[in-house]
Amino acid sequence: MPFVLVHLIPFALVFTGVAIEAVVLGVVTYVARMFFITAGYHRYFAHRSYKLARVPQFLMAFGGTMALQKGPLWWAGHHREHHRTSDTEADIHSPLRGFWWSHVGWILCDKYNDTPTDRIKDFAAYPELRFINRFDWIGPWALGIACYFIAGWSGLVIGFFLSTVLLWHGTFVINSLAHVMGRRRYATEDTSRNSAILAVVTLGEGWHNNHHYHQSSARQGFFWWEFDISYYVLRALSWVGIARDLKTPSSQVKASNRIKQGAFDIGTFRAHLVRAGAAVQASGANVGTRLATTGHHAAEKLATTGHHAAEKLATTGHHAADKLATTSHHAADVLADKRDVITDGLSQRKEALEGFVRSSIESAEELAKATRLAQRQLGVVPD
Ligand SMILES: [Zn+2]
Ligand SMILES: [Zn+2]
Repeated sequence: MPFVLVHLIPFALVFTGVAIEAVVLGVVTYVARMFFITAGYHRYFAHRSYKLARVPQFLMAFGGTMALQKGPLWWAGHHREHHRTSDTEADIHSPLRGFWWSHVGWILCDKYNDTPTDRIKDFAAYPELRFINRFDWIGPWALGIACYFIAGWSGLVIGFFLSTVLLWHGTFVINSLAHVMGRRRYATEDTSRNSAILAVVTLGEGWHNNHHYHQSSARQGFFWWEFDISYYVLRALSWVGIARDLKTPSSQVKASNRIKQGAFDIGTFRAHLVRAGAAVQASGANVGTRLATTGHHAAEKLATTGHHAAEKLATTGHHAADKLATTSHHAADVLADKRDVITDGLSQRKEALEGFVRSSIESAEELAKATRLAQRQLGVVPD
């Protein structure tokens, strides 16, 4: 939240206006603090590339805290960790984890809040450095208040806050852009590059491939055309006896290990390998997903077909049963009708037979009557 807030504060210049002395102040605080970070936090505390007496050492540390990049022990300890593991998964701001992670994500991640004390034992031995590392807010507050008194609200907004935001991103580009933009001269195990543009923004840290190649050097621009303002200032400080024993690479070191002269670029090779590995893994996962999807569709289709077949079978069976029932029903009806007809015929014949029997009996009775009458007339009377 404070990190995001500081990014928003510069918009307040709409209300404060832009005073010329505030702009000058902003340039001065940017350049001075960038020097404290590059020459102090980086080249002195992290890499010990030259020597300072105890008082200038403390002033360098205090100046560095004004850049709002935490304390010198925290910064230098994590930076030593970066060089030990650069461009592997273990690297805290590994470019392999994406541009935004290496630029700013790692700083916002709570995982790296603590000072890695065992990496920076040499400087953690000084109590005044431990103090300023712990109370790293004193420097920024002092600078902010000073900016207000020098150039008012405009001085605070531009001279302190806007300058701080630019300083942050100016520093972060070394972790992000300096591994993407520029050229590689030396075959280092990482993806560091040399960029003149980044060297302007960072007072000389843009020669990042040189630095990864020869980390103990106080000079990062190895040749006269590789301008390195931090180094020029350190040279000037060495003339007045403040900075001592500035380490620089020998001409033999500068000449060897060059990619152009056939040194195998292991850093780029490894980065490509990692990317290729990721691509292979992704395509494998893709095939798996595709296979699963196809299998799922086939199973679904089979289930649908089976369902249709079952439905069709059921319908056909139903129709057959219906037809059978109808047919048997009709047969039963026909049978019943026939039975009725037969029954009717039978009863008619029975009636006719009964009539015939009755009329036969009547005829027989009439015959008997006529016989008796004839006998009586003939005088033959039976006993
Ligand atoms: Zn690096
Ligand atoms: Zn370094």
